[in-house]
Amino acid sequence: MTVKHIPTDEVHRGYIGGNTACGIDITKHPSHWILTKEEVTCTKRGCTS
Ligand SMILES: [Zn+2]
Repeated sequence: MTVKHIPTDEVHRGYIGGNTACGIDITKHPSHWILTKEEVTCTKRGCTS
């Protein structure tokens, strides 16, 4: 599953209500995140593999 961080337009692996694969806590600012089907653009460890 992939999620987009709206303020940066960056797409990560992760799910709403948890963390991104690179370790960002999505629950801190839930309004900043939406589910998407776009390609992952985050280059950090976890999201890239
Ligand atoms: Zn990421």
